[in-house]
Amino acid sequence: MAVLPIHVLGSPVLRQETIPVVTITPELVRLANDMFETMHAAEGVGLAAPQVGRTERMAVAQVEDEKWVLINPEIILREGELKWEEGCLSIPEVFGDVIRAAHVVVRATGTDGKEFEVEGRELFGVCLQHEIDHLHGKLFIDYLSFLKKRKAMAVWDEEKAKYPALLRILTPGVHNDGDISGRL
Ligand code: ZN
Repeated sequence: MAVLPIHVLGSPVLRQETIPVVTITPELVRLANDMFETMHAAEGVGLAAPQVGRTERMAVAQVEDEKWVLINPEIILREGELKWEEGCLSIPEVFGDVIRAAHVVVRATGTDGKEFEVEGRELFGVCLQHEIDHLHGKLFIDYLSFLKKRKAMAVWDEEKAKYPALLRILTPGVHNDGDISGRL
């Protein structure tokens, strides 16, 4: 397994529509494993393929030791509303409150080729919605009000200087101590 560089805000791939997966190849399974490795190195709870520069419609998530590979995921039910402070592994140090559905049911395919449904609430529900947005070129900052987005972008203007190539290179084993609940 390998830790992949994470594309940060400004990298065009983050705004691209992904391509539905037709065949689950060994390469795709390897990509999913590398995405888990990368997500762990970044101390996140979810990661979508565009964040590692890929256009496959696939995301990974891990909340409370439950690991999910979501191929061609689709939200089939949304209920209620909840406000959650989100961050994104592709926009380090930027956080903002987003209103999401409080409960979602997602239909996806696993690496075994079988279709399944999974439901999410709270952190996992937010994570599912955030990662599926990534697969359609959408980022959490798109939901912020004008003023909140301006504030977030001011933080990012300082932060982005650390990523001149728009890539975030992670060192496995070097950890932050912060709260991981918003890193998606
Ligand atoms: Zn994200």
